[in-house]
Amino acid sequence: MSIGELESIDPRTLEPLATVPDSDAASVEAAVSRAAAAWPTWRALSYRERARHLLRVRSLLVERADELVKTIAAETGKLESEAWTTEIVVTCELIDFYARHGAKALAPRRVRSGLMVHKQAEVRYEPLGVVGVISPWNYPFTLAMSPVLTALFAGNTVVLKPSELTPLVGLAAGHLFADVGGHPDIVQVVTGGGAAGEALVRSGVAKIAFTGSVETGKKVMRAAADTLTPVLLELGGKDPMVVCADADLDRAADAAVWGAFSNAGQTCMAVERVYVVDAVHDAFVDKVLARTSRVRQGQGKGNDIGSMTSPQQVEIVERHVADARDKGAAVLTGGRRAAGLGGLFYEPTVLVGVDHSMDVMRDETFGPVLPIMRAVDEADAVRLANDSRYGLNGSVWTKDKAKADRLVDAIEAGNVCANDCMVNYAIPSLPFGGLKQSGIGRAHGIEGLREFSNVKAVARARVSLKEPQWFPVPGWLQPAMRRFVRLRYRRAFSPVLRVGSAGRRQGDG
Ligand code: NAD
Repeated sequence: MSIGELESIDPRTLEPLATVPDSDAASVEAAVSRAAAAWPTWRALSYRERARHLLRVRSLLVERADELVKTIAAETGKLESEAWTTEIVVTCELIDFYARHGAKALAPRRVRSGLMVHKQAEVRYEPLGVVGVISPWNYPFTLAMSPVLTALFAGNTVVLKPSELTPLVGLAAGHLFADVGGHPDIVQVVTGGGAAGEALVRSGVAKIAFTGSVETGKKVMRAAADTLTPVLLELGGKDPMVVCADADLDRAADAAVWGAFSNAGQTCMAVERVYVVDAVHDAFVDKVLARTSRVRQGQGKGNDIGSMTSPQQVEIVERHVADARDKGAAVLTGGRRAAGLGGLFYEPTVLVGVDHSMDVMRDETFGPVLPIMRAVDEADAVRLANDSRYGLNGSVWTKDKAKADRLVDAIEAGNVCANDCMVNYAIPSLPFGGLKQSGIGRAHGIEGLREFSNVKAVARARVSLKEPQWFPVPGWLQPAMRRFVRLRYRRAFSPVLRVGSAGRRQGDG
């Protein structure tokens, strides 16, 4: 490997796969210029024309899916079955959703003009320009394609900087757009590390869509502040699971094991900590242990989970488990690298006797570790769930629907599941994003499409008369306004009903 290059490694074997350019600022700027040159033609298309083109991209994706899945598995160590479900299907479904429902979401809409009955008010959604996308390695295809496609549907062109751990997946994603014919330059891919990412943030793009860790997200926001470049930040999580005494314990235990260990625990909305009320704690732990002992780990078919992706991440997992042990936690199973598998395989690990003095309950572990904590009651479980700087996702488990609703309200997060876990991102109509330090803005859904739009507020005069407040201001204006304010806004004249109906009608034409 020479200077100016990056090596991609297969984490299952630690063998090198390929070398790619470690792009410098000049290459990043050149890519932004190419995307900017492609923008006028792309933005001039109607939404339906853009959708037709992106459906052709999806057909090419489907043709190349076997090959894409192999590249994803080789660069991340995940199983091909996981790549089919969480990378290929999720991406294809997002295209489907935006192709069907995006045109309506971005159509100009009339809104009420309030007092100004002699004006017309309209909201328009316009593309922003070139969007910079910086993506992570844990779902390298989905988390690159999702913001790239959303920005394209909204009429922008894109420069993508994939993770330095998964550049081949990023390049393969870029080839889909380059090879499909018609608009080959709408997506530019620049490979490289943090410096290339920072160069993209500083390149003058219209918006940055960043998915990654909280720490890097803060750096991105700091750099973006210099040019006031808007940022969409999809950051880390420490997602809690709250298990009530009346939960379906079998389903909850199945979900905890899948939610914590699938993708080797490297999911932003993985189940990272569980709070179980005292009455069912021991029964729940037994069920989790029985299921964990049946999780099959290895390469290829017939397994449930593969290897982790980066040596640094395995070290974080080891540090968290050691810290928990030192502070009194018990490791009921796992707690070490998987003997005989090589690469970066770490055993599914269950911890009990944990508390909030431990890193494993406070910081993102991002590995196959499931810490379970006893809570006095439901209120205690919710308090502990919310005692976190993160707020990405969470789940609540009870058979009582009304209680589930109350608990959903009580969890401080951008996304919450009831009697389910980690499904939010796979439902393309649901906006996805974080609260607290888990991020800013929303991906997916109508909200996601509008994240990549300039929301333009247009006011139009209906009549061509002199406005009373224009110069010269007439003498009657002030006394008239005084009378008007008293008449219109006095409490007695503002019945609640009127407020309610205005709220319901907001956004009507
Ligand atoms: P990371 O923050 O290390 O890197 C993410 C990307 O940022 C990479 O492409 C990297 O090269 C780039 N980068 C690094 N330094 C930069 C800088 N100074 N300026 C600009 N870009 C820079 O994250 P990761 O380890 O690749 O991914 C794992 C993290 O991502 C976890 O914290 C996980 O929770 C989070 N994540 C969040 C979501 C979500 O939707 N909220 C989804 C997946 C992953």
